[in-house]
Amino acid sequence: MAFYAHWKSGKALTQPSGKIVCIGRNYAEHAAELDNPIPSQPLVFIKPGTSACSLDHETALRFDLGEIHYEAELAVLIGRSLTNAEESETLSAIQGIGLALDLTLRDKQSELKAKGHPWEIAKAFDHSCPVTPFIPLSEPNAFFSQNQWHEFTLEINGEIRQHGKTNEMLFTVPAQLAYMSHYFTLEPGDIVLTGTPKGVGKLARNQQVKLTLDGDLLAESRLV
Ligand code: ZN
Repeated sequence: MAFYAHWKSGKALTQPSGKIVCIGRNYAEHAAELDNPIPSQPLVFIKPGTSACSLDHETALRFDLGEIHYEAELAVLIGRSLTNAEESETLSAIQGIGLALDLTLRDKQSELKAKGHPWEIAKAFDHSCPVTPFIPLSEPNAFFSQNQWHEFTLEINGEIRQHGKTNEMLFTVPAQLAYMSHYFTLEPGDIVLTGTPKGVGKLARNQQVKLTLDGDLLAESRLV
């Protein structure tokens, strides 16, 4: 397909530094594995730009803060401002596509959730969002067309732990962007994380992680 050739030949974009807006519980089987109900509206939270880091040959994570859990997610890089947008106008604002790990201090999050407190500390700490390079999308409408879906995998030490298929999302990418932009403006350089499929679990130092999108390797890194 035309768009496919385009994005495969595209040059990776440099590291963005805007805010990172995340959707929780966007895959039914993941909501179930954490005993969470399926939301009737997108569940949104934000990580600051300081949480982003690139998945390089080695990626330094804050293992000193507690047990870190991974959530592999399709990541969308915003290239144009979106305020209170209609679904139909959101796709043209997408500049690039990549993958990210939404890292979570799960014990801390459970503790905060139980108290009804905000869970920022568990989700927004430094380096809680390692990202792959972003591939420019010259035709976002084609990439996200309704009869087109994409798959991504997270491998840890050679074993596939998560395998996401975008057609299993509860809220589509345009629906997510429209919903978010109703409450706050998405700006160029912001990243949207679109939810994680089932299979989340714990990370450890010295593990080798590998992220692929539609069979292409986007990043491989050793955790330190
Ligand atoms: Zn997540």
